[in-house]
Amino acid sequence: MGAAAIRRAPGIGGMRMTTAIERWLERRGVTVRDVAEIVLSLQRPYNDRLTMPDCEESVRAVLAKREVQYTLLTGIALDELADRGLLPEPLQQIMEDDESLYGVDETLALGIVSVYGMIGLTSFGYLDKMKPGVIGRLNGACGGEPDRRGGDEADARSGAAVGRVHVFLDDLVSALAAAASARIAHQNPDARKYGLPCEG
Ligand code: MG
Repeated sequence: MGAAAIRRAPGIGGMRMTTAIERWLERRGVTVRDVAEIVLSLQRPYNDRLTMPDCEESVRAVLAKREVQYTLLTGIALDELADRGLLPEPLQQIMEDDESLYGVDETLALGIVSVYGMIGLTSFGYLDKMKPGVIGRLNGACGGEPDRRGGDEADARSGAAVGRVHVFLDDLVSALAAAASARIAHQNPDARKYGLPCEG
């Protein structure tokens, strides 16, 4: 699906947009299941009843948030423009080099993490360091010449062609997994509840 299809989606809300954002992720080589596998690995030690469908549901719940969708659209669009060599310099070169001091990719991703508080933030830091599963694959995918064919021809690459620049996507996927993981942690039925002392 191209950007035009997203723009045409009526209302860009609810399930319609969730489906569209899943397709944007899949176009870049990331499925909900990929993210859910990371969520399961993070939360299973604390909840042995947790299943893959639970984790997929949590990822989709995070993806249903409009601010998450807009954050993903922004980061993926920048990755794709860099893939086509269309960004102004020096940003194009910074993206191609995945310059370590750039940091805007992590900053953008924090917008997704912050929805679920400190547990999400801690998990995001862990995933950024360990890069499990699809995060590691995205992180190792950079390199080679940018695709300067542009537009429709670049879109027409095979379904397996997921781009070369994933400066934003690796952090966005880490954030998505961290947020979905924190959401499950907050809902864990084994978590003890403490009453607040009454005033007066
Ligand atoms: Mg990055």
